[in-house]
Amino acid sequence: MPINKASLLVLESFVRQRGAKGEKKLRVIFLGPPGSGKGTQASCLSEKFGIPQISTGDILREAVTNKTGLGIKAKEYMNKGELVPDEVIIGIIRDRVVQTDCENGFILDGFPRTVVQAESFDEMTKEKNIPVDVVLSLDVSEELVVRRLCGRMVCKECGNNYHTEFNLPKKKGICSRCEGKLYHRPDDEEDVVRQRLKVYKETTEPLVDYYRQKGLLSVINGEDEISNIFNQLVNVLEGVREN
Ligand code: ADP
Ligand code: ADP
Ligand code: ZN
Repeated sequence: MPINKASLLVLESFVRQRGAKGEKKLRVIFLGPPGSGKGTQASCLSEKFGIPQISTGDILREAVTNKTGLGIKAKEYMNKGELVPDEVIIGIIRDRVVQTDCENGFILDGFPRTVVQAESFDEMTKEKNIPVDVVLSLDVSEELVVRRLCGRMVCKECGNNYHTEFNLPKKKGICSRCEGKLYHRPDDEEDVVRQRLKVYKETTEPLVDYYRQKGLLSVINGEDEISNIFNQLVNVLEGVREN
């Protein structure tokens, strides 16, 4: 059958919407307080769905390690448990979501964190025609979040998360995924954790209502076992992808 221009255009538009394998794209935002399990779940979902996890925290920590201009600026805010200024973060995301590995979607872990970031991201997604499909919110009590953060251990090499009580690596102090050394983040000391939770309540929590009003919100109990939460999230995302 000869391919005419009209059918090519239809095909092109299908691929743009669904990706080359015919699957609908998945653009996901993760909300939830620090320690609610966003990073843990986003990393597993990224593997399962073949879309990148974009963690603004990981991007900033890498910049701090490499002592880049961004890192030197961000470190002061991060160590105090404060947010890095909106314009810096928005610039990072604007560059990141247009990279080729985001063609079939992405999982945002730790962005947006303020109404200004969310509004600016709305404009960006409209302009670039990359609409968000769902916002996942992990619900965890403040006391549990503090316990989780105070015992969190992170791989220096790949960023994978562990916990001294709840999520042990196979070998003590060593990443089960890449054999990298594990460390305790300086901002996971209890006084900084309390400050980060205060900032979360005041500045980030309003985003739950922001996305509920847009009809994008899906709330999941984040106090369950890691694998149970993962299965629930997979169900939500598969439902979104079919629609
Ligand atoms: P966030 O990215 O939201 O800050 P993390 O994914 O880093 O949270 O999780 C915080 C800590 O809690 C980590 O040490 C992680 O291993 C642990 N953790 C994550 N999810 C669970 C869970 N469902 N049950 C118990 N511990 C968890
Ligand atoms: P957690 O999920 O455990 O709170 P992250 O790794 O997401 O930690 O973030 C660590 C720190 O990086 C934050 O406390 C903040 O200083 C900075 N940061 C990360 N994402 C953002 C963002 N979207 N806006 C402003 N600051 C951010
Ligand atoms: Zn690792």
